[in-house]
This record gives sequence, structure tokens and C-alpha cells, in this order.
Amino acid sequence: MSDMKTAAPSREPYDVVVVGGGAAGLSAALVLGRARRRVAVVDAGAPRNAPAAHMHGFLSRDGMSPAALLEVGRAEVAGYGVDLVEGRVDHIEPGFLVRLAGGPALRARRVLVSTGLRDELPAIPGVRERWGRDVLHCPYCHGYEVRDEPIGILGTDPMAARHALLVRKWSADIVLFSHTLDLSDDERERLAAHGVRVADGVVKRLVVEDDRLRGVELAGGAVVPRVAVFVLPRMVPNDGLLTGLGCERDANGWVTTDDSGRTSVPGVWAVGNVADQRAQVITAAARGATAAIAADHDLLDEDLARDSGDRRAA
Ligand SMILES: Cc1cc2nc3c(=O)[nH]c(=O)nc-3n(C[C@H](O)[C@H](O)[C@H](O)COP(=O)(O)OP(=O)(O)OC[C@H]3O[C@@H](n4cnc5c(N)ncnc54)[C@H](O)[C@@H]3O)c2cc1C
Repeated sequence: MSDMKTAAPSREPYDVVVVGGGAAGLSAALVLGRARRRVAVVDAGAPRNAPAAHMHGFLSRDGMSPAALLEVGRAEVAGYGVDLVEGRVDHIEPGFLVRLAGGPALRARRVLVSTGLRDELPAIPGVRERWGRDVLHCPYCHGYEVRDEPIGILGTDPMAARHALLVRKWSADIVLFSHTLDLSDDERERLAAHGVRVADGVVKRLVVEDDRLRGVELAGGAVVPRVAVFVLPRMVPNDGLLTGLGCERDANGWVTTDDSGRTSVPGVWAVGNVADQRAQVITAAARGATAAIAADHDLLDEDLARDSGDRRAA
């Protein structure tokens, strides 16, 4: 984050203020900067995948560290004149005034919110400490790295049995820890048919030695050796800025957008994990680029409408 600077109030409004400088926000800023728009990116510096040492599944960037990707991204957007501002946006006023914690405010014609989501983890000792290392959630991100290893699935979510069947493709040695789940006979049959074993009983803690996961300890004291466990976190969007502006949400509480990321509030876009819990880094980046082009056209439409109004008045 040393390449970011502190916000200074601006007289001229930005064409677009991007709130959240992860893959989604920086990709949007890159496209807008190259479109010669006046852009600021405000970022609080806590991308979701920060605990992971490596990022996978991004063509041409597979295995790069998440921090390195963003560092390269920031350098690229800065090269096109985008202002990078370190800070947290507290509130966005309609119109728009983007207020940062501590006082400064940026005026903007359009806002693009790419503030990501937070993963709420089960309160099992060891899970938070090992998150993104050997406690994983997404096999598409990190399954290949633990292929053919002894893997556990923590039964903390009703979808855990399905998750176990999904992860089964990466390893023949899968144990589903039922923990607090009440597995049906059908589920147990299906798991057995696919070679997934079930360890019943409440999970007491993850056993970690020499900075590596060694196993899963059950309440009765038995330890099942595992080198990685998968868990389904509860994903909560960081969407307070959007709901504060009145953006509509769907029945599940997620802010709705059109294909370009446009929300129900004119001039406001939402891209990446804040509006799409399934977005990977590459898809979040793609959504940012799509939204940037839509926002650029929206600004052009406004300029053209004002221009024809001016000519009619003359
Ligand atoms: C442990 C882990 C490993 C992962 N590994 C992979 C992987 O290998 N490959 C892959 O494709 N995906 C992976 N993911 C998913 C990946 O993290 C997301 O797809 C990606 O981060 C989404 O990008 P984003 O820009 O939407 O959000 P983020 O990357 O989370 O960026 C959001 C940014 O907004 C900032 N922010 C939030 N609120 C504010 C505010 N109010 N004001 C200013 N800034 C704010 C945050 O600090 C953050 O910097 C992983 C996820 C986790 C949890």
C-alpha cells in the first residue's frame, strides 16, 4: 500500500470514484484511466484473499501472490493518471459526495463500488488462524495444491455434504466431519457410494503443529489426521455504502445489478464480490472492466445531452 496516497479534498469532481481497490475496482480504474476519465480509487487495503500466499485460476497470473497482483495493478492505473487514495469510505451522499473516514470528501459524477465481501467463519479453534493456508473454501482456487492428500470437510453448513462430493474429485481420501450437521440416510448413502467417509461427533479444534495443520480433533479426543480442511464460510457483502444510497436488493439480501453492474440507483455501479459472491479474481476483474465501459458511456450520454441543451438555449 506504499504506492497509495492520502486523500486531499478536490475542487473538481472526479468522473468516477471507485470505492475498493481489489481486482474489480482496479480493473475498472484501468479501463477508465485509459478512457482519459478523471478517476480516483479509494481503498482500505484489506482484499478478501489476503490470507492466501498464492492466487490461482487467473490466466497468465496463476500462482502469483494476491498482493503482487494488486501492486502491479496499482502501478498500471497510476500510469494512466488515476489517483490512488488510501482510506475507508464511510458514506456516499447522493449526487455524489464520497466521504472518507476522518473527514475528506471526494466529489464524483459516478461511483463504482467494489468493496468485496467478508467471510464469516465458524468458531472452531484453529479455523480463523489457518484460513487461506490449510483451511480452504474453494477447490477451484486451492484444490489442486492439496490433490490426493487427506482432506477434511467441516460440517458447519447444510451444503457441506455436497461440498465433500465436489472436493472428492481432488482426492480419494475425504472425511466429512458431521459436527453439528444432521446428515440424512440418503446423504450418508450417497457419500459412501462416492467414497467419502463420515466422522461423526462435534469438532473440538484443529490440530496445528510446526505451523501446519496435522488433523481434526473431535470432542471425544480422537484426532483424524488431515493436511487440509474445507469449510463453507457465510459470505456477507460489504454493501453498506450501496444500501445507504438506496440500492435495491434481491430476496437473499444481495444488491441487484444489470449485466454491466449498474444498480437501481442511477450513476451507481456495484461489481465484484460485493454484488456477486461467486466472483473469482478473474471474474471480478472482468466485471470491473465491463462496468467501466458502461459508466464511460453513461458519462458521454450526459455530456451529449447537456451539449444539445446548451446549443438549443444559445
Ligand atoms: C482465502 C481466499 C483465497 C482465495 N483464493 C482465490 C484464488 O486463488 N483465485 C481466485 O480467483 N479467487 C480467490 N479467492 C476469491 C477472491 O478473493 C475474490 O474473487 C476477489 O478478492 C474479489 O475481488 P473484489 O475486487 O470484488 O474484492 P476484494 O479483493 O475483497 O477487494 C475489495 C477491496 O475494497 C476495500 N474496501 C472495502 N470496504 C471499503 C470501504 N468502505 N472504503 C474503501 N475501501 C474498502 C477492501 O479493503 C479491499 O481492498 C479467494 C478468497 C479467499 C477468502
